Amino acid sequence: MAGPKNNSLSSLEHEIYSWQYDVPGFGAVGQQKLKDATVLISRCGGLGGVVAYELAAAGVGKMILAHAGDIKASDLNRQLLMTRKGIGTSRMDSIESRLLDLNPDLEIKAVHENISMENAPSLLEEADMIVDAAPLFEERYAMNDTAVCLGKPMVECAVFSLEAHLTVLVPGKTPCLRCLYPEPPPTWTRRFPVFGAVSGSLGSLAAMEVIKWLGGFGKPLCGTLLAYDLQDVSFRRYRIQRNASCECCSHIKQS
Ligand SMILES: [Zn+2]
Repeated sequence: MAGPKNNSLSSLEHEIYSWQYDVPGFGAVGQQKLKDATVLISRCGGLGGVVAYELAAAGVGKMILAHAGDIKASDLNRQLLMTRKGIGTSRMDSIESRLLDLNPDLEIKAVHENISMENAPSLLEEADMIVDAAPLFEERYAMNDTAVCLGKPMVECAVFSLEAHLTVLVPGKTPCLRCLYPEPPPTWTRRFPVFGAVSGSLGSLAAMEVIKWLGGFGKPLCGTLLAYDLQDVSFRRYRIQRNASCECCSHIKQS
């Protein structure tokens, strides 16, 4: 991870993060790793917005954030980085402003468009880790294919109604998204049922996977898919394996 020069933690930052220093295996060394890191999040709505907020609170140094469009009234049941008075204005402007209110030390590269095959290579290149919180499979595939190509780890998270899925994809070690979904699921739609409390719960779990991976502690959710259903609060873990004939990642040797 290549942080800017003189990227050491200030005395105020040491104070802000002191409560998390006591987590076993983290400490000031882990904090410096977060500050030196760059995380790309696409998108920053009900799910990715909570990931971004938790990572800003935890002290990640730089984020590349991709989210197109203007705030709609129908965003506001879940998109916690947006507000009612902002309806009709840029989502990304609101995202940037809310995150910098919380953490003015955060460096943000604001991308006012969604991830595509055209912009993914240059945007993902700069990131140490990627968070896929996009609603459309074309965006998910663009991030997956580029992440595999660049050898970058990606936190894969998705919600539908009261259900949520989470895993960490690592090229050469775990399945990629196309191993799991060679084709978009037939039931997938742009608009889906969701409570903010469901997407927010998953956003917090996804943020913790980023913090563990970058901070070098704990056991990231690699090779395992966590699936939970808040209808009856059931949690299940599934082992997931690479697809030997995956069109995206089968050429990469297991590492
Ligand atoms: Zn694959």
